[in-house]
Amino acid sequence: MANIGEVFGAASAVVKGMGITFKEMMQPTVTENYPDEPPKLQERFRGVHELQRDENGLEKCVACFLCAAACPSNCIYIEAAENTEKVRISGGERYAQVYNIDYNRCIFCGFCVEACPTDAITHGHGFEVASYNTSTLVKRKEDMLVKIPVGAKPPVIADSVEAGAH
Ligand code: SF4
Ligand code: SF4
Repeated sequence: MANIGEVFGAASAVVKGMGITFKEMMQPTVTENYPDEPPKLQERFRGVHELQRDENGLEKCVACFLCAAACPSNCIYIEAAENTEKVRISGGERYAQVYNIDYNRCIFCGFCVEACPTDAITHGHGFEVASYNTSTLVKRKEDMLVKIPVGAKPPVIADSVEAGAH
């Protein structure tokens, strides 16, 4: 049979628990109403990658392969090509003619972003990539490359666009 001390102990625990419950009831709700409303993502959220351009509109990626080497899932595929006087795609000697990321394998670890010496690859906030067709999860450079900034005049834009369309 419970003694008086145990009864008070149990009652005190109930009062303490209810106190926490009432306190939480007064706090603003943090429930996300996704998909009815867009989720509130933190700035550092690691979503689908973006390939960045510099202020002139040139691609920042110089096809150095460091991101592919750092990737623990081996899901980055790059084919490099040389810039020429007539066709300049990036600010370096080379550019990525092909840049694919296989999201069947990517674990969004961010190692590729950390490894990139030119800040060419970053994480965007896109995350709705689920698909029943795994072939759609291989994203190409054209899917990830950001638009040319307004007012930017890449040195050889006409040829660049043509060559970048491979
Ligand atoms: S986020 Fe990680 S797994 Fe995904 S491509 Fe980058 S390094 Fe590879
Ligand atoms: S994204 Fe960065 S690390 Fe990867 S190949 Fe391009 S420049 Fe190199």
